[in-house]
Amino acid sequence: MGCCDTQPGLIPFDEALQRLLKGSDTVVDTEVVALADAAGRVLAEMPKASVSVPPADNSSMDGYALHTSDLLSSETALVVSQRIPAGSAPKPLQSGTCARIFTGAEIPEGANAVVMQENVRLEEDKAVFGAAVRAGENIRRMGQDIQAGAEILTVGTRLQPADLGMLASVGLSEIKVFKRLKVAILSTGDELVEPGLPLESGQIYNSNRYILTGLLHALGMEVVDLGCVKDTRESTLEALKAAADSADAIISTGGVSVGEEDHVKGAVEELGSLDMWKIRIKPGKPVAYGKVIDTPFIGLPGNPTSTLITFCLLGRPCLMGLQGMNYEAPLQVPVKAGFERKRAIQRQEYLRVRLENGVVTPFSNQSSGVLTSASWANGLAVIPPETTIAKGDPVSFIPLSELLI
Ligand code: AMP
Ligand code: MG
Repeated sequence: MGCCDTQPGLIPFDEALQRLLKGSDTVVDTEVVALADAAGRVLAEMPKASVSVPPADNSSMDGYALHTSDLLSSETALVVSQRIPAGSAPKPLQSGTCARIFTGAEIPEGANAVVMQENVRLEEDKAVFGAAVRAGENIRRMGQDIQAGAEILTVGTRLQPADLGMLASVGLSEIKVFKRLKVAILSTGDELVEPGLPLESGQIYNSNRYILTGLLHALGMEVVDLGCVKDTRESTLEALKAAADSADAIISTGGVSVGEEDHVKGAVEELGSLDMWKIRIKPGKPVAYGKVIDTPFIGLPGNPTSTLITFCLLGRPCLMGLQGMNYEAPLQVPVKAGFERKRAIQRQEYLRVRLENGVVTPFSNQSSGVLTSASWANGLAVIPPETTIAKGDPVSFIPLSELLI
């Protein structure tokens, strides 16, 4: 059993998440952007549709438009009185005739059905129809997608390609979004060196900086990179003040335990307020949450895999709230365990796994210092506290793609 499993004061994951979400109201202003630049931005004002989509009844087929009352009980030949390609304005249909019509073209007044061309025989200037045509057949109704006046998306939606298409379909060329949240990141640790520099004895390269930058950019946020911070009280205070001055939120990694080389806790307490939680999850040591002056602060553990997982599960929902984004719990799908776990632990575990053919296989080394596990994985298997797993048992799987956007 790991050292932390029996420690008192571990709080359940859901409680930590609720506390984070409660403190994360929108902190950013709004701006107007061109629709073409709005992918991944967060909607700040709910647009009302000024037109219906489609704006008029139109044909879902290449065929012939007619009124079903003109059909006899046997075969009927009707004169083709007009041709209506998509994009043209139709004339009213003369009664007792039909109109050649194409997919997406507006249905002429007086027609109530479209017969697909495969079911029509042409004889000179006439089209011959069988008897069985339903009123409404092959007609897409005006407003079947969007009704004029409808509020088509909710504030807080992170705009996906389909959303942009919908906004375009009602004629909007620009929209109001929340400004990108500016997030200051700082990597604490005397041992850290930036890639590109030589590695001296006792040093390691800084990976968290790149993990966090990637995660924040994927969320559409702006990164204010404050680089590495030495493990001293002065450097930590200075970096946190600079962060509060220049960003809407602050994320640090490392230095958040209570050892004498860990200065984040004391520095945040001196500049603002701090809650530190030992959360009942693995990987993940203490996560700190509070304010530096008035700026929301999250302190993540230093091990790269812990940084990644705690960011995805806790930091991300919090930042999404500050960004004005609606938070939806990540999708969890039931899959089969391709492994066994005989020894239950008290913490909820997030194994780095690959899902293939409905079965999940964990990476062989699940240590929080082994980042290869997360790079290799395509998702996380959630093992609830106090649970053993036999091969073939159902387990919940969270696709990493749910957490990395
Ligand atoms: P700490 O929470 O500061 O005690 O760090 C826990 C572990 O994570 C230590 O082994 C650190 O060297 C390592 N670590 C902390 N920050 C980073 C970083 N930015 N990149 C890679 N490893 C780190
Ligand atoms: Mg450290």
